[in-house]
Parts: sequence; C-alpha cells; structure tokens
Amino acid sequence: MRIELRSDTFTLPSKGMREAMAVADVGDDVFGEDPSVNSLEQLAASMLGTEAALFCPTATMCNQIAMKVHTRPMDEIICDRLAHVYNYEVGGFAFLSACSIRTIETERGLLDPDSIIANINPDDVHKPVTRLVCLENTCNKGGGSIYPVQLMEQISQTCSANGLYLHLDGSRLFNAWVETGNELSDYGNWFDTITICLSKGLGAPAGALLCGTASTIREARRVRKVLGGGMRQAGILAAAGIYALRNNVERLKVDHEHAKQIGAILENQSWVDTCLPVESNIVIFQLAAQYSADDLISYLQAQDIHAFHIGNNQVRLVFHMDVSADMTGQIVRMLQSYMQ
Ligand SMILES: *Cc1c(COP(=O)(O)O)cnc(C)c1O
Repeated sequence: MRIELRSDTFTLPSKGMREAMAVADVGDDVFGEDPSVNSLEQLAASMLGTEAALFCPTATMCNQIAMKVHTRPMDEIICDRLAHVYNYEVGGFAFLSACSIRTIETERGLLDPDSIIANINPDDVHKPVTRLVCLENTCNKGGGSIYPVQLMEQISQTCSANGLYLHLDGSRLFNAWVETGNELSDYGNWFDTITICLSKGLGAPAGALLCGTASTIREARRVRKVLGGGMRQAGILAAAGIYALRNNVERLKVDHEHAKQIGAILENQSWVDTCLPVESNIVIFQLAAQYSADDLISYLQAQDIHAFHIGNNQVRLVFHMDVSADMTGQIVRMLQSYMQ
C-alpha cells in the first residue's frame, strides 16, 4: 500500500468528512450568506479567542492578506530565515505588499525577543519602517519545531511595547497545541492575526482561516476579494473544515508518536549525519556526505514509500492521518535494512 510521506497535504478527505460536505447548507459567501462558511468562521474565531475569522482557499492567501493589512508600502517585515512566508510564497511580501523583509538566522526557526529588538530599524530616512513580525508555529523548515508558550508570550509583549504587529503562520498550529496544551484562546491574546490551515494534518481537501479582530478581518475580506479569493457556495469546503476542527485535532498526537518513532531509528543509522529533534509530525534528516538522499529516496520509492528531498542532502518525512501504525512499522523496517 502506498505510504505518502512527502507532505501532510496529501491527506485525503475521510468518509465522514465527505458525508458532512454532501449535506452542507450553502449560499453565496461573497454576500456573507453561506451558513456553513459563517459557522466555520465563528468556530475558528471562538476556538482561538479572536473576534472574527475569514475563510480562504489557502494558508498562503491568509498569510499574504495578513501582511497586506498590517503594512504599507516601504515597510519592513521581520521573520525567521526558515519562514514559509519568506521561502515558499513567491516573494509575495514584495509583490503584493511592496515591503522588504528582514530575516533572522536561527537553528530551528524560532525567534526570540532580543533578536527581534536588534532588528528593528531606527527612525532614519534611509530605512524602511519595521512594522510587522511573522512567527511560524510549528516551523516546517525547522523540522516541525514548536514555540515554547512562554517565548510566544514574551515576543507578544515585545511587539506590543515596540508598536509592531504580530502575525502567526499557524498552518500547523494544532500540531503545536496538542503538545503544549495551553489555552487555545491565548493565541488570540498574543497575536494580531493567526493563519490556520485545514488541508494539512487536519485532512480537509482545501481551505484555511485568517483569525483576528473584527476590524482587521473586515479589511482582510476586501483584500481576499482583490486576490480573487471570494468563493460562492464555499460551504461545501467549509463543512469539511468544521468536520476537521471537530474530529481531527486531538488525533494529531498519534502522528507525532509515529514521527518520533522514526526519528529514534534514524539517530542510530550510520548513513545519517544529523536528524533534527522530532517535536511534532515532521522528520528532517541529513545523510552523511558519502551517501545520497536521491539514492535513499529511490530505494524507499521501490517499496512504495514516498519521501521528499528538500535539498542539501536532506530528506523530509511528514506523518499524518493516512500513515497508520502498521505503515510506520514498515517504514522502520525499510530504514533499518537500507545499506544491508
Ligand atoms: C503549507 C504551509 C503554508 C501554505 O499553505 P497552503 O494552504 O498550501 O497555501 C503556509 N505556511 C506553512 C508553515 C505551511 O507549512
């Protein structure tokens, strides 16, 4: 049976989710009249402790809208050098928001108050105005690293004290939350806007939400429209999102256990140079210099196990609801017998 580890975006909608989609009440969401979209937006906002939320086709669109509503042209955005908004969104901060970006170099994609303060521009006619900080939790390129709760709280205070907006790319926020177990509504207190993604580990076919204050979300709705993100009977997708938030959050822990099991195996292989500490559902490891990531990936592919070469002789394995305990056992065996 095919084992898909390239990304948690490969998760397929379950039977229960498809049934919820089939019977969804729908209307025209651009007119604000799709009851399922409205319910999903209310559900997300109430979970995260924000006044409002906006349903978008993708998390990329949510992040781009957030950067647009918080900035003006010639502003600067601070993020980690590993951030999705910097690496994987086609430079949208420059294209859509006409902003520059200041990246901070860290090991695992987690910023801290001191490095943020050190990167705030002085009030100088030569300099763009530092306006927004973007965090990512969990951090994909950091190997699914998780922000400690206290660190987010401190960063939030730092941003408030320095007049900076704070956005969270929480595409995998629930992966972080099932590990930290803080109040979900903390996020609404700490961040001006929060992106959550429904189509990764939560298993919906598409969709994401941007959460924030009522006035921010009103402006965000206008930006969503100009980007072509105003969908009509989107309730069919929103029903999948409601199902995902109600049924698929707690179970993310299982994916983390599978990922940790694989991380423990990799640490003991002679052909592995380093494996990033496994904190959630992502495993990133680098092969020792004399071995080739492409060769390992071909070997796994021959067993119908599909992994991703992310460059620099590094391989990424992402665990999700369509990877069972049995499949994880099979991956363990295949990794142990590589080189034998
Ligand atoms: C996948 C991902 C996104 C973008 O999500 P899409 O819905 O595919 O646009 C943004 N941020 C992070 C951290 C992601 O992993």
